[in-house]
Amino acid sequence: MSEPRVVLRIALPAPHPEPFDYLPPTGLPEGAAQPGMRVRVPFGRRHAIGLIWACATGSRLPRERLKPVGELLDDTPLLDDELLGLAQGIATYYHQPPGLVAAMMLPVALRQGRRDAHDSVAETSPVVDMDRTSPPALNADQQAAVDAIAGAIGGFQVFLLEGVTGSGKTEVYLRLIERLAARNQQALVLAPEIGLVPQLAARIGGRLGRPPALLHSALGERARLDAWRAARNGEAGVVLGTRSALFAPLPQPGIIIVDEEHDLAYKQQDGVRYHARDVAILRARRLGVPVVLGSATPSLESLHNTVRGRYRLLRLPQRAGLARAPSVSVIDLRARRLDAGLSETLCERIGEHLAADGQVLVFHNRRGYAPTLLCHGCGWVARCTRCDARLVWHQASSALHCHHCDARRARPEVCPDCGSSALRALGAGTERLAQTLAARFPAANAARVDRDSTRRRGALPALLDGAQRGEHRLLIGTQMIAKGHDFPAVTLAAIVDADHGLYSADFRAGERMAQLIVQVAGRAGRAERAGELILQTHHPDHPQLRLLLDAGYARYAEAALAERRTAQMPPYSHLALLHAECTRPEPAQQFLAAARRAGEALSVKGVDWYGPMAAPMEKRAGRYRAHLLLQATRRQDLQTLLGLWVSGLYALPEARRTRFALDVDPMEL
Ligand code: ADP
Ligand code: ZN
Ligand code: ZN
Repeated sequence: MSEPRVVLRIALPAPHPEPFDYLPPTGLPEGAAQPGMRVRVPFGRRHAIGLIWACATGSRLPRERLKPVGELLDDTPLLDDELLGLAQGIATYYHQPPGLVAAMMLPVALRQGRRDAHDSVAETSPVVDMDRTSPPALNADQQAAVDAIAGAIGGFQVFLLEGVTGSGKTEVYLRLIERLAARNQQALVLAPEIGLVPQLAARIGGRLGRPPALLHSALGERARLDAWRAARNGEAGVVLGTRSALFAPLPQPGIIIVDEEHDLAYKQQDGVRYHARDVAILRARRLGVPVVLGSATPSLESLHNTVRGRYRLLRLPQRAGLARAPSVSVIDLRARRLDAGLSETLCERIGEHLAADGQVLVFHNRRGYAPTLLCHGCGWVARCTRCDARLVWHQASSALHCHHCDARRARPEVCPDCGSSALRALGAGTERLAQTLAARFPAANAARVDRDSTRRRGALPALLDGAQRGEHRLLIGTQMIAKGHDFPAVTLAAIVDADHGLYSADFRAGERMAQLIVQVAGRAGRAERAGELILQTHHPDHPQLRLLLDAGYARYAEAALAERRTAQMPPYSHLALLHAECTRPEPAQQFLAAARRAGEALSVKGVDWYGPMAAPMEKRAGRYRAHLLLQATRRQDLQTLLGLWVSGLYALPEARRTRFALDVDPMEL
């Protein structure tokens, strides 16, 4: 028998820049092992499950050093050509290890090597018939949007659907999904957060008469596998989920919809670093289907792409139905007395709305009771020993929490430095706000909605449900309540502290703040009754804030883009961040310095280097973190450099003493 000529390139779940070369399994006909199938291979002293990434005809290693694959786990490819090509596209553009990308694209159960991947019918198959709701008549803007997108079905095109909150974007999605369902074509719908999925699932299910297949991390492995299979065999007409749903198989692809496209949650910040919105566009292009990016506050990147003619802009400038845009007022906090961060004026307005039978939403982006515990005797402040951060006092759990590493400590009885018992809670988080407001408005049945109050399974749906039914007339919460939820009875939305973000070091902070303000405003006045937004700030004349409030998000975004152009920041330049961390500060810095030397030696033109520098919070969870930033005016220059540079990083001697990760198009610096 002649020796097999084929070499299999296997993606193994290891932080390694290349797939590993193996020989085909012995005893099987040549060609039995195909790309996209899983294999079990000897790896070091153990075995590992991997995916055939590609078939090659040779290897850089001498043939006698190659081992044969131990076992072929699939008889047809688990990742079809399309998904495997997408995986390769992600690995190439983001310069991520192929094995980690391949693992990310499979449901957990299949990553671990389960063999029954190809069951044609799911055991508990996402087919209950539901009562169907009838659609409202579309307004002219909605109709124009539906027509434009429907006209593009069958080919690739990117649409940015910019619609103020409550303008009926979801209704546009529903019409498109209905049309595709009639043609037996699948829709893939992404939401940024698990909390937004149930409401969207109910609306889609109500319209189609069958619930969509759900894919997100709060589901059990079994449920996820079933949904994945239902997508794969075409039984699922709609696949809905958070960013991991992006990798569902779509044998009859019709459209991809990315709701709240501006949301930071689409960026995966650990493991494989990728942006689900951008990968959705990549996938739509490869599938030849339209992709719809929806938002009331589009990212500056997407707006810039409409200006360049790459995306087509569709606007829904008016609220659907009877709802009107909320009125806005600003409370100047300078020199005012505050109670838990609340001015008397704001409390009075809350009282008026409650008295008029309204519902009030108070937004504040800090959890816990107080962000600082201070000794009045000596100035000692409670700090995390593992992070460069203060500990937050949580009264409900009577402990000090670190919001960065999750460490918990008992609150000391007396100051550990001077023994004084005068320990003061400074500042206010949602817990303190909720307590203060509940005491002042006992009849409103105040509810707090944040990560702490919703930790228990089922707690968030119960709170949202209670809020929707008007049981809680006062809601205090973090971004959890700012995003996407439809509370028809809210008449007043208040932002306790709008200053955060106005003077932050991150160049995207202003954009984030503007998006948040508009999203919070969007919670008010979604039904017949007019809504009001009140914003507290120490900087009522801040030019960007004024522009946003007086002229609206679109004008704000134009000005912000002009500033980005002047500063040559994204989207007018392209960034990559090499991140390193270690239990001591030096190894991370030394690795990055060596990485920079290696990169500069490649002499690729058009790339500027900044760093190594300590990360904004240098110490986190016991590790010292540092960055090296690369910037290029032309994306191609950056990609050329990365292509020559990244795989060599793994071989640097300094790499052995530190963890590192590359982030292409980083969203946070
Ligand atoms: P968005 O997704 O833009 O926030 P939705 O699609 O959720 O907006 O619509 C907001 C509200 O208006 C929903 O209650 C929806 O049922 C209703 N709605 C949407 N389109 C229309 C329409 N054309 N006529 C009447 N009501 C509508
Ligand atoms: Zn003290
Ligand atoms: Zn910590």
